[in-house]
Amino acid sequence: MKPLIVANWKMNPKTLKEAKTIFSFLERGIKTIKKAGIVLCPPFLYIPSFNPKNSNLALGAQDCFFENEGAFTGEISPFQLKDLKCRYVILGHSERRKHLKEGSEIINEKVKKALEAGLAPILCIGESLEQREGNKTIEVLKEQIKQSLKGISKKKLKKLIIAYEPVWAIGTGNPCPVSEAQSMGLLVKKTLSDSYGKALSEEIKILYGGSVDSENAFFYIKEALFDGLLVGGASLDPKEFLKIVRSVC
Ligand code: PEP
Repeated sequence: MKPLIVANWKMNPKTLKEAKTIFSFLERGIKTIKKAGIVLCPPFLYIPSFNPKNSNLALGAQDCFFENEGAFTGEISPFQLKDLKCRYVILGHSERRKHLKEGSEIINEKVKKALEAGLAPILCIGESLEQREGNKTIEVLKEQIKQSLKGISKKKLKKLIIAYEPVWAIGTGNPCPVSEAQSMGLLVKKTLSDSYGKALSEEIKILYGGSVDSENAFFYIKEALFDGLLVGGASLDPKEFLKIVRSVC
């Protein structure tokens, strides 16, 4: 299976001009890369300006609302994303959990609606430093998976992707030790297998995210056997991002 490398630009860059420059650089670099799938998740506003010509490059969004249309000021629906050629949507990112107080109930609704719209949700889960230090990681991850997928039938879950992102590793330059990440990846797989069966659990991709760079990316894919990576900060530097992608091909 080709690794899936997802670029989360977060609320960057500041101008559309800069965004277009990064995008063009990426598109040129990606031409020679055949053995990885790349998903670019820019801020909503930039999505219509990008039209990837390479089939290895897909568009995603960083969030969506849990209704398809209506009186929901400021929100963006999964259908609107699909209409703009997005194939993926990041949901439950820890920055949204923290700054916007998004909880599991809302995330669950968003996952449901994204799947209904035909998007592949990239569901982020991960423990805080406090939870890690209190030996609560396993409990937290199992609970986040259970709550976020509540009421979703097995057959709808094929498109689901889970990103294991320890909160303390995001944007800190302090990535999760590879062996620890591997254990958590296996825990996620087992939790899925226990609830939905082995066959489906093998179809659901599991990504690692948290201070990934071109020096450590290889180990999460080749040693810890993740199906891909969710890359934040390093994805804004297109040279570094392409280095990451090449290192795992
Ligand atoms: C992220 O935003 O999901 C992320 C993993 O960020 P960073 O790579 O900067 O840690």
